[in-house]
Amino acid sequence: MKTRIILIVHFLILTFLTLNAQDKKYNGYINDTHVHLRYESESPYRDGRTALPKDLIRNYNQSKYKRVGVIVMAPTNNIEKTKAQNDSVIAFCKRHSKFYPICSVHPNDEKLALDEIERLAKLGVKFLKLHSITQDFDVASSNVSSIVQKCTENKMIILFDGLNPFDPAQNGKFLMLALQNPESRMIIAHMGGADFHDFAILIALNKLKWFPQNIWFDLSGISDIYADSPYEDQIVWTCRKIGIEHILYGSDFPYTTPEDAITDTQNLGFTDDELSKIFYENSEKLFNSFKK
Ligand SMILES: [Zn+2]
Repeated sequence: MKTRIILIVHFLILTFLTLNAQDKKYNGYINDTHVHLRYESESPYRDGRTALPKDLIRNYNQSKYKRVGVIVMAPTNNIEKTKAQNDSVIAFCKRHSKFYPICSVHPNDEKLALDEIERLAKLGVKFLKLHSITQDFDVASSNVSSIVQKCTENKMIILFDGLNPFDPAQNGKFLMLALQNPESRMIIAHMGGADFHDFAILIALNKLKWFPQNIWFDLSGISDIYADSPYEDQIVWTCRKIGIEHILYGSDFPYTTPEDAITDTQNLGFTDDELSKIFYENSEKLFNSFKK
């Protein structure tokens, strides 16, 4: 009888501890810094999921979402379509206040792209997206450098897609861009994906006075790829060494649902305090860091 009581008490304590540990998962405000808006109903995904305006509104209707960055991608050699898309996402975000626009230009549009950045800045746009694979450019090209300079002059933050298995030197090119444009602010999406280890070099660079600490990383995609994998500890370690203050949450919707991306990020192994920074505080600071 006595043994049975001891066993029951042990079971109750274990249950309490387990429930308490689950409760400790971050449950506060969320800024999603990486969400796509596509006006086409044709989906590139096998399960047919879309990113139409109604999909965004439905997926982000909960009050925990405070800011949601909405991305459009500029085509090449079509400045009229580029401008129309940018105007559409700006109008969408004006109608739905928790969303903010992440506009785009194509680096190969050269002067037209630079003029578009100035126009966007005057409209209050704070973020610009560039994507080396889908827009087919080299991060080391002079056109990209001009875009970074123009964005910096206009106090705009650049969100670079950070996945490019076709250019193994791309992460080094990002570091060079950051170094050549110390006043710029860049976010490298997906933290370089499978090459996330490259950014451990920041452990050394950040010790040097001349290296500007002007790169942030979002965990979109990488949290999905490496969820429940042996790499989770390595990602958390790298983020801590780089500086948790420079890590942002993103879902890459519709690539993942917001709920799946949140769960994957929570399960990587960060502390509750770190999750609070990643999900909300860091992006709030970055959002307000360029005073206009
Ligand atoms: Zn994306």
